[in-house]
Amino acid sequence: MDIHQFTISQLAEQLTARRLSSREATEAVLDRIEATGERVNAYITVDREGALAAAEAADRRLATGGAPPLCGVPVAIKDLLCTKGVRTTGGSEILENFVPPYSATVVEKLQQAGAVLVGKTTMDEFAMGSSNEHCALAVPRNPWNLDYICGGSSGGSAAAVAADQCMAALGTDTGGSIRQPASNCGVVGVKPTYGRVSRYGVLAFASSLDQVGPLTKDVRDAALLLNAICGHDPRDSTSVHEPVPDFTAELGCGLAGLRFGLPREYFEVGLDEDVKKAVMAAIGQLEEAGAEVREISLPRTEYGVAAYYLIAPAEASSNLSRYDGVRYGYRDQDAQDLLEMYRRSRSRGFGREVKRRIIIGTYALSSGYYDAFYRKASQVRALIIEDYRRALQECDVIISPVTPTPAWPLGSKSDPLSMYLTDILTIPTNLAGLPGMSLPCGFSHNGLPIGLQLQAGHFREDLLLRAAATIEERLGFAGRRPRL
Ligand code: GLN
Repeated sequence: MDIHQFTISQLAEQLTARRLSSREATEAVLDRIEATGERVNAYITVDREGALAAAEAADRRLATGGAPPLCGVPVAIKDLLCTKGVRTTGGSEILENFVPPYSATVVEKLQQAGAVLVGKTTMDEFAMGSSNEHCALAVPRNPWNLDYICGGSSGGSAAAVAADQCMAALGTDTGGSIRQPASNCGVVGVKPTYGRVSRYGVLAFASSLDQVGPLTKDVRDAALLLNAICGHDPRDSTSVHEPVPDFTAELGCGLAGLRFGLPREYFEVGLDEDVKKAVMAAIGQLEEAGAEVREISLPRTEYGVAAYYLIAPAEASSNLSRYDGVRYGYRDQDAQDLLEMYRRSRSRGFGREVKRRIIIGTYALSSGYYDAFYRKASQVRALIIEDYRRALQECDVIISPVTPTPAWPLGSKSDPLSMYLTDILTIPTNLAGLPGMSLPCGFSHNGLPIGLQLQAGHFREDLLLRAAATIEERLGFAGRRPRL
């Protein structure tokens, strides 16, 4: 096994035993990026110097003993998260040269744990998209088949993990952006409960939905990263004072006492045959392992997309008003007056999809339309939350596909609506603020990964991880990597 193929836990074992240095591991990862980076295109920025300096600091800390499990481990960060002194673009031309004067709380936490930040991964512009094709700076390719999408919006993070160009990565999930690319690239992705992880320093898309989470090579690594990033942050008023358990503690506990629910409506959305087969096989494994699986109902599932595509653009239209050419990023130089400067900076700086969302959101919030659109969407959101409340009385973990289809060929989906509809099975989780995850459960007939989605009650990431660890062990897909 090559060094770049290690999981976090495998590498941590080598590092703490001093059989390998962080410098060696970081160089191995940087070499891997050099060798395969151009084909996969997962990174917007690779911080070679910063990474090597951090690795040397980690080696000094490892030498004293007692370093945390992330110490010296090369990780990648979605380019939506501010990194002090390292360019942070949000995948947008408007921020192409933006270097933040501070770091996101999650980035600070990783650095405090000794992690080595190797670079910033590509993404759909301002995290708006499901394929990672809406990026002004780098469109990544699926490591399993370079002609296919990685999924979005955290496509670069998923691709970097799948291609062994980092041990693990952080992404964000507003309507599926961690789970969907994780599913498409055959890695594990967790979207924590809303409020579990600080959003401070994360370029805001839709503030009532955004959440940071890990993309990793296996379930244990996801638990390790969650241990490092969860917890209250006084700088994010929506982060909660909920105790953070050791998420690795129950990984080996099996399925005893866990009830699984299969939402009928998730199987009525025109699922691809390969997806259905892979998910049903995983469920068969659960039953064989003695788990209780029953059918449940989430009757308002089909309205999630419509509600989300009003609420998220409404919040985005407000959040993105800060990019005005004055305070951040790109400023048009030819304008004759202030209004023209705003107009030209925003027209040129933002891409088509972002402008579409700003227009939809501004319209949905405008006086006279607010009741018909934003208020209605919020009411639907309340009904979806109620659906989950009822369903989670009958089961502990909801099990389903992540997306209706596996990854599709780059450039093959051009109308926004069909793109939006691919989020139908992931959006409800965010509307309800619940934790959800994706883990590999099979492959399509043409060799593309398929993910299994698990959802649980608020703050029950422990249940997700416990179930996922058992499923992962029985299916044996962890460790399968694309040949590049
Ligand atoms: N695909 C969804 C969107 O385009 C979700 C994106 C996300 O989770 N950031 O809005």
